[in-house]
Amino acid sequence: MRSLFWLSPLMLSGTILVGLPNAGGNPAATTPAPAAAPTVSAVPAADPNQELAMQNARRYRKEQAQVRFTVFSGGCNRDRKVALTFDDGPDPKNTPKILDILKAEHVPATFFVIGMKAEKNPELILREAAEGHDLGNHTYHHLELTEMHADGVRFEIERTNQVLEKILGGPTRWFRGPGCHYTNEAIQAISDTKMVRIDSTDNPGDWAHPTPDQIVRRSMRDLSRGDVILCHDRIGETVQALPRLIKEIRARGYQIVPLADLALEAQHTPGFHPAFCQRADGVRIDRTAKVPTASLKNASLKKQQPAKVTTGVL
Ligand SMILES: [Zn+2]
Repeated sequence: MRSLFWLSPLMLSGTILVGLPNAGGNPAATTPAPAAAPTVSAVPAADPNQELAMQNARRYRKEQAQVRFTVFSGGCNRDRKVALTFDDGPDPKNTPKILDILKAEHVPATFFVIGMKAEKNPELILREAAEGHDLGNHTYHHLELTEMHADGVRFEIERTNQVLEKILGGPTRWFRGPGCHYTNEAIQAISDTKMVRIDSTDNPGDWAHPTPDQIVRRSMRDLSRGDVILCHDRIGETVQALPRLIKEIRARGYQIVPLADLALEAQHTPGFHPAFCQRADGVRIDRTAKVPTASLKNASLKKQQPAKVTTGVL
């Protein structure tokens, strides 16, 4: 079991300017500096938060590299473990609140980030990684993959991974398309780029702004071993629901673990198959819609249940 990384103090100091004379003062010509004043260039000090983030990201990349699935949708036959995932961030307003709750509760999560937003909010990506969370790729523009050719899908994946690489020193292998909608061409492109497509098996539909109560109730309704729970860190109601959701999950004896733990445990379980599999005519993998029986390989994973909520954009 992975040890979490909360012990190190969170330092959001950013760049520290060392040895600057008159720090905080006005360097304008009203008070000329003494001729003998030493010239000290601004040297950014090592940021402990960044170092920790890079270290954690490296550790997760190592684990991701061991995963042989091309698609993982949850499932775990032995232990009461689930993984919590958040799509569509980083969101400057709500992601910090989600992170505060996860930190207080010592819960690891995986953030499937939109590349464009990650580029604008690198400090949130750093904070996510520094606080022990894993990162996934949720495309650069958050456009429907079903309307793109393979090269467009590859662009979305690669550009987002380049952003993550710049911030965390390397890419992620986790990928989830907007709305979990795919075509065979998109699936091929995801596979060609060596990404692991991550679906979900527990979807409270929080994107549609249900009440916090509904989010908790829907998530808990058929929570089962190995579930990958899909939430959105940009949603205010999710922020409100999260403390209770964590409490209820734990009250039922489940442990919330990183996605990599779940995937690797599934990989080491003889006879395990992901809950969703590719269909010959392309796939639309969305827990908010009815799941065609033909797409279910492992019926024992309780996935033949009807829709939990109405269909919509995730
Ligand atoms: Zn999304």
